[in-house]
Amino acid sequence: MALMTPEQFEESLKEIKPRVFMNGKKVENILTNRNTRTVVEANKASYKWALDPKYKDIMTCFSPLIKDVVNRYTHVSTSTDELVAKAQAGTFTAEMLGTCIYRCVGYDSFHSLYATTWEMDKELGTEYHPKLLKYLKMVQSKDLSVAGALTEARGSRKQKTPDWPDPFLSLKLVDKNKDGIVVKGAKINISGAFASHYINVLPQAAHYKGEEDYAIAFATPVDADGITYICQYTPYSAERDQADDLEELGNPVFGQRETSMVIFDNVFIPWERVFHCGEYQYSVKFVTRFAKTHRMTCGGTCKVGFMNQIIGACKLIQEYKGLEKATHINEQLMEMVALRETSRACGLAAAYNGCEEPKGSGVFLPDELMGNVSKLNVCNAFWRIMALAGDIGGGLIVTLPSLKELKNPDVKDYVTEYLGFGSDAPAENIMKVTKLLQNWTAGLHGVGTWHGAGPVMAQKIMLQRVIDYEHDKWIAKRTLNIKD
Ligand SMILES: Cc1cc2nc3c(=O)[nH]c(=O)nc-3n(C[C@H](O)[C@H](O)[C@H](O)COP(=O)(O)OP(=O)(O)OC[C@H]3O[C@@H](n4cnc5c(N)ncnc54)[C@H](O)[C@@H]3O)c2cc1C
Repeated sequence: MALMTPEQFEESLKEIKPRVFMNGKKVENILTNRNTRTVVEANKASYKWALDPKYKDIMTCFSPLIKDVVNRYTHVSTSTDELVAKAQAGTFTAEMLGTCIYRCVGYDSFHSLYATTWEMDKELGTEYHPKLLKYLKMVQSKDLSVAGALTEARGSRKQKTPDWPDPFLSLKLVDKNKDGIVVKGAKINISGAFASHYINVLPQAAHYKGEEDYAIAFATPVDADGITYICQYTPYSAERDQADDLEELGNPVFGQRETSMVIFDNVFIPWERVFHCGEYQYSVKFVTRFAKTHRMTCGGTCKVGFMNQIIGACKLIQEYKGLEKATHINEQLMEMVALRETSRACGLAAAYNGCEEPKGSGVFLPDELMGNVSKLNVCNAFWRIMALAGDIGGGLIVTLPSLKELKNPDVKDYVTEYLGFGSDAPAENIMKVTKLLQNWTAGLHGVGTWHGAGPVMAQKIMLQRVIDYEHDKWIAKRTLNIKD
């Protein structure tokens, strides 16, 4: 079986030496730094579940490419059933981790790469697809973790890319020779890349004539010469750095959604890992195919898992406070459940309505309309759920004393008494659940969920392209017997 154990995954990370910076300092070891460790833990869990009889059906599937069982996050879907399974895996991993499974963007980018290299080879006579298959087989048989990078800083949005004074605000090809290409620029907001084995790099946007050097897609080992990771650092990172005991935190093991800027300072990519180079008309296809896959899960069913954690915490607080009969809280919980189920339904509909794209390629992609509607719903639903949780959880969500006080002999009795709410539950449990709600509602997740997989306008632009009003017009006219 082509599956690594969690221990083998951790060992494999010791072999790679990414250049990582956080909070003004070099991270010497991503396995021991408390913040980068959360990414290692999240990816490691995906290896554990794949070998666990209870979860193996969620986390693994059969790959016809290497004729073996592989981790679902290295597989390219060949049917709507497999898309549905991936959508459901997104809910599972999100509710178990309360953060990203950092192999997700890699999975989505493989779908885009698979479909578009196949199409380019067919239409242009290029030879990208066999190279992609060779790389994908290697990823599957070695059970590698792969991150995905599209987002770029970009220059003034008022100008076209070639008019930017700094040409490297979008990742650019700077050299090409018989062995490969050299690229320079940066990707930003990239989830968990430093604790992966490879990064799949795709264009962020459509490109046009004159922008051939920006029309690039490739894969690279995370520690290739010239790559530097500059990690996010937030109040939550500082809290983790300073905690005496990680149990004090809202998500002790898996933390926040960790990202970094990924700098490419003249990075060499051998031709065998280059999957798009200059065919600018196809850049948009890489982007839209990635987006429709990513929006089904990251923009859809994954957030269902996050919502499960929030709803569970709210229900516990309701019970701790003896508010089970408070009508408005029961209504708020019901509203949260309705928002969650609508999010799940849209994500699953994107999977069920998926189809082979392009026809004959063998790869299945989710439905574009439902995938975008899914993300659009989730953007607003998540803020609403955060607001409802804020009401149910009370002001303590933002005024909570440190859990350290439970061990402080000077005040522990006070805290135990007054934050126990006279309930049967210990104050420690009430404080921990409140801390979980702080993590969800008073931190990074609102904006993170809005922008991850693209902000609302990005979905609206895609929806404008796919909505078919002709049928609706015909129905209206038919109802009124209007003939023209
Ligand atoms: C937690 C998290 C994880 C992420 N992980 C990844 C990852 O693994 N890989 C990856 O590639 N990306 C990742 N992203 C990036 C994510 O996809 C982007 O943040 C998102 O697409 C928005 O892009 P931006 O952040 O550059 O914001 P902007 O594009 O600057 O958007 C800000 C606002 O400006 C508007 N705007 C932008 N451009 C225009 C324009 N031309 N005309 C009019 N309005 C415009 C937008 O609609 C929005 O309202 C992640 C983001 C987050 C928050």
